[in-house]
Amino acid sequence: MSFISVAIDGPAGAGKSTIARRVAGELGYLYVDTGAIYRTVGLYAKRMGADVYSEEAIIPLLDQLQITMKVEADGVQHMYLGTEDVTGKIREPEVSMLASAVSAHGAVRSFLLDMQRDLAKSQNVLMDGRDIGTVVLPDATVKIFLTAKPEVRALRRWKELREKGAPDTFEQVLEDVISRDYNDSHRAVAPLRQADDAVLADTSELTLEESIQLILDIIKEKI
Ligand code: C5P
Repeated sequence: MSFISVAIDGPAGAGKSTIARRVAGELGYLYVDTGAIYRTVGLYAKRMGADVYSEEAIIPLLDQLQITMKVEADGVQHMYLGTEDVTGKIREPEVSMLASAVSAHGAVRSFLLDMQRDLAKSQNVLMDGRDIGTVVLPDATVKIFLTAKPEVRALRRWKELREKGAPDTFEQVLEDVISRDYNDSHRAVAPLRQADDAVLADTSELTLEESIQLILDIIKEKI
């Protein structure tokens, strides 16, 4: 029996996680937020005192890395480092850059590849990330490239951070969005790009509910 897989890729702050989680819930598929996996590796590398920009420094750490993903009763994907639940910790803004840095290393990406692919072998999944349609699940049933203008993405993220009481200014958030976009799309290994067979969905002018509907429509047309 083969399972349905939906790959949603796109830049930081396009609303991917929120939209993907809701759509996966509607369809009854397992939602996999692959950014959370890279964030966990970034946090781990920092805690081990490694230079996150150096692949040589990160490679020896991968042997001891114990990373687990568990969907708990609340339906939320929890990330564990060893036995510690780091689900909240990895959302801190500092961890975004750590994730972006470690994710540029080929050794990190190949280390995480099987973990991601295995998840799609035994159930219907909706996986979001940067290279799901291009590298992780090249044969995905549906591929979507979800994006929005940088200013729109930064504004959404800034509002989210502000609600959590974070002190970041809009300019800082915009700078972070632009620099992460640059890192993600210019790295040598698995850069962020739209797969040739992916459907482009731009949510700049759409509300959250409209974006969810658009993604559901794209998927339902293909399955
Ligand atoms: O999606 P999120 O913002 O949580 O991802 C954090 C970082 O992890 C991204 O900026 C990107 O560098 C990296 N990432 C990746 N490949 C994925 C998912 C995330 O390189 N599939």
